[in-house]
Amino acid sequence: MDLGIKGKTAIVCASSKGLGRGCAEALAEAGVNLVMNARTKSTLDETAAKIRDQYGVTVETIATDITADSGRAEVKAAADAMGGADILVNNAGGPPPGMWSDWGREEWQAAIDANMLTPILLTTEILPGMLEKGWGRVVSITSASVRTPIGVLGLSNGARAGFTGFFAGTSRQVAGKGVIMNNILPGIHQTDRITQLDTAAMNASGITMDEARAQRMATIPAGRYGTPEEFGATCAFLCSQHAGFIVGQNILLDGGAFNSSF
Ligand code: NAP
Repeated sequence: MDLGIKGKTAIVCASSKGLGRGCAEALAEAGVNLVMNARTKSTLDETAAKIRDQYGVTVETIATDITADSGRAEVKAAADAMGGADILVNNAGGPPPGMWSDWGREEWQAAIDANMLTPILLTTEILPGMLEKGWGRVVSITSASVRTPIGVLGLSNGARAGFTGFFAGTSRQVAGKGVIMNNILPGIHQTDRITQLDTAAMNASGITMDEARAQRMATIPAGRYGTPEEFGATCAFLCSQHAGFIVGQNILLDGGAFNSSF
């Protein structure tokens, strides 16, 4: 299927690895030029070089912390130099697991900064350019924890719920002007983040890594973890010309783990 977005410019935050990388690759395959971001320059440059070689698109890299005001400004400036962002993929690292009793103001502030305020502020800064063009796509990577809370990820449950509320209203304010905003809620996908969470589960329960993974897979009707590639394909579709009537949705990619009739 031709996604109809060849030649557009996308900012893909936190994209040297994992789900962000999956989105960057799928957009590049559709002919989209990229501003890619992560904090570690070496990994980011390596991923960007592979994408340039494979898909022949322009890829700028900004090695910065996207949760800092200066980081957001650098990323926006890079996209402005490429004609302005047509597509924004919001993403950042997730908060650490723990117990409700572990978290005070400092931990909450960090989670709110990374998983609520960063995507809200970056979207607020990018939206005017999209509205001027009369076309834009914003896809935000949140978490299945928005719909089905995960106890040990209370920081994620809380911060992302606040973000989701903001987006629900804003997406409906801009849809009539050609800007389409949706969220993707990942369940368990095979990335470094999940390896870290499986390692934490292994250490907490005194089981092996294989046992920790088997326990988690048993909760997923699909019987496996998702892949960054299939996640990226969904993201690219939501950024496509065909997604213009999908507004303010929270698309759950979890292999059926959330048990519900609709
Ligand atoms: P990952 O494999 O650990 O990759 C994270 C990527 O983000 C890396 O490229 C990392 O590079 C970059 N990054 C992290 N913090 C950053 C920051 N402050 N500024 C810029 N770049 C940053 O993680 P993932 O599994 O793809 O997860 C992506 C998001 O989805 C996270 O918020 C996670 O909580 C959420 N999620 C994931 C799953 C899953 O199953 N994988 C499930 C639910 C929710 P650097 O470290 O070099 O910056």
